[in-house]
Amino acid sequence: MNDPNRDMLEENEMNGYAKIDRYDPVGVARMAEQVRRVITELGEDPEREGLVKTPERVAKALQFLTHGYGLDPAQILRSAMFREEYQQMVIVRDIEVYSLCEHHMLPFFGKAHVAYIPNGHIVGLSKIPRVVDAYARRLQVQERLTVDIRNCIEETLKPLGVAVVIEAQHLCMIMRGIQKQHSIATTSAFTGEFNSDKTRAEFMRLITSGSHG
Ligand SMILES: [Zn+2]
Repeated sequence: MNDPNRDMLEENEMNGYAKIDRYDPVGVARMAEQVRRVITELGEDPEREGLVKTPERVAKALQFLTHGYGLDPAQILRSAMFREEYQQMVIVRDIEVYSLCEHHMLPFFGKAHVAYIPNGHIVGLSKIPRVVDAYARRLQVQERLTVDIRNCIEETLKPLGVAVVIEAQHLCMIMRGIQKQHSIATTSAFTGEFNSDKTRAEFMRLITSGSHG
């Protein structure tokens, strides 16, 4: 993975997305009002000192945790695509994933490993984690998140193949006692050359070798 193009790519990349760092104040106010009702419904006193600002904090947190709706993942990739004849597997592994399960709106989190085999175009390596984040920062299920990432890379880069593996823990299962602590759900999605046993086995070997937790 000592690709000499890597540094060049990092330098040449243009910023393909804007991170949300300001909030929609009308949306925050409306959501905060609903959160106040939830707090009351739970039997708590929303006027209690520690809770007075909680509805607004929760509303802002939810806006941030779902800011992927405002991002265009394909555009993130297109902002840093380069013609290149390199045709070996490119892997970005151990990408941190933080998402919200759409059934309980509780976090699931873990790691994504993404690979593709270029077919005339490569993409700035830092864009892959941004694509993962753009889909993760929505209400999701792990299965669809995996396929969303795969499809975006497939349709935008048109590579010879794409592989996505996500390993995640789900608080909705761990905290509710449905799942043993530390058990991990693994999902995967492949296209093209990764449907061949040999290529897929090489990918799986590379993402599990020398794992540094
Ligand atoms: Zn859930």
